[in-house]
Amino acid sequence: MTVTTDRLAPKTDKHSAFWQNAHLYFDRVYQTMNLDPTWRPVLASPRRVLTVSCPVRMDDGRIQVFTGYRCQHNGALGPFKGGVRFDTAVNMDEVMALAMLQTWKNALVGLPYGGAKGGVVCDPKKLSIGEKERLTRRYTAELLPVIGPQHDIPAPDVGTDAQVMAWMLDTYSMMVGYNALGVVTGKPVAVGGSVGREEATGRGVMNVLRKFLVTQNKNITDVRVAVQGFGNVGFHTARLLDARGATIVAVSEKNGGIYDESGIDVEAAGRFYRESGTLVGFPGADTITNEDLLTCECDVLIPAAMENTVDESVAPHVKARVIVEGANGPVTPGADEILRDNGVTILPDILANAGGVTVSYFEWVQGLDAFFWDQKRVQDELQRVMERAFDEVNAKADEADCDYRTAAYTIAISRVAEACRLKGLFP
Ligand code: NAD
Repeated sequence: MTVTTDRLAPKTDKHSAFWQNAHLYFDRVYQTMNLDPTWRPVLASPRRVLTVSCPVRMDDGRIQVFTGYRCQHNGALGPFKGGVRFDTAVNMDEVMALAMLQTWKNALVGLPYGGAKGGVVCDPKKLSIGEKERLTRRYTAELLPVIGPQHDIPAPDVGTDAQVMAWMLDTYSMMVGYNALGVVTGKPVAVGGSVGREEATGRGVMNVLRKFLVTQNKNITDVRVAVQGFGNVGFHTARLLDARGATIVAVSEKNGGIYDESGIDVEAAGRFYRESGTLVGFPGADTITNEDLLTCECDVLIPAAMENTVDESVAPHVKARVIVEGANGPVTPGADEILRDNGVTILPDILANAGGVTVSYFEWVQGLDAFFWDQKRVQDELQRVMERAFDEVNAKADEADCDYRTAAYTIAISRVAEACRLKGLFP
């Protein structure tokens, strides 16, 4: 028997840059807010970061040790909530940055949650189904002291899905001795998930874009859209916009993308991607690179892949007039400045992609109540939450004469800061 270690992914500048970027966005707004400066370090620091080693028996008999994390950023508004990533690039800085963003996102859309994020350094595509299950179960067991329906509620993110959530639910439930429906969200409907959760982030992106276009006297049918990333968020966003008459001119995944100015058949591209694992070679459209996608001729660009994909080198060449951040942290602060100077409107991640956690909240409520909603109720309630959040951000941007990200951060930070102030410091 051999023991191998898949320790921390090598730390690159890009990794720590994401944590620094999350702070830059926070600081930029905090210093304009006239808030009590004594609370600033509390809001800026993660409450807890747990690092775990997950030894897993691989199919060939080896034991491989995977590193996992769970970061809980700020719990002033309620139990912690946030996704779990399985990806080779997962590292502590990334998880801390994503947990901080999650705190602001939950506060902005009015959910009674703090922000958290977790991840395991692994390539899920290289694991067999059995290896993935054993890794998920061991990671869940290692997180047992800090997760739970009233403590911290994980959900799917990059590289994880409803099946992974079903294993997390089962592992936690076996260990506590009851079926703890509220411990994770994004579960399959057959084991207590919510209808509409899988497409929820994409539906929320669509709701927010539609509301924004109304302020410009436009419709979804008027816009040409490019979507980077064709996973959960990218695919459902493209599908829902396509179904409402937008022209989806480009979509991409890690290996490359496709472009068709007359509009891509999104359902067919989705089938092709599921079957072949790539979009490259999809018949009837031109092959493009991810860089081409970000700078292609379109009205709306939706980066829905990973953080930092729109940086200072890409920003000057972006032709879209509107960017909707489907991913978390896709636009770096430097790129944000260039784009704003160029008159590009950015609908920020903490607003635009909040549909996923919103329906996760609905799922958690349904699980705790053991009373399940139908699809129409989920979609209507989601639309209500997303449109209210957009209206609040839009009103704040008008009132303060600022961009949407500043407006969204101002609302979110003030809510979390107020909760911290009212609760005071323990002990
Ligand atoms: P996913 O694993 O389902 O899909 C990720 C997609 O992005 C894949 O198509 C992959 O090939 C592609 N990709 C990865 N790196 C890329 C790169 N450098 N360039 C282009 N494409 C690349 O992940 P997801 O759940 O769709 O999450 C995507 C983003 O949305 C992440 O930032 C995630 O944190 C954020 N997000 C997800 C949810 C959710 O409910 N799943 C909710 C809110 C935000």
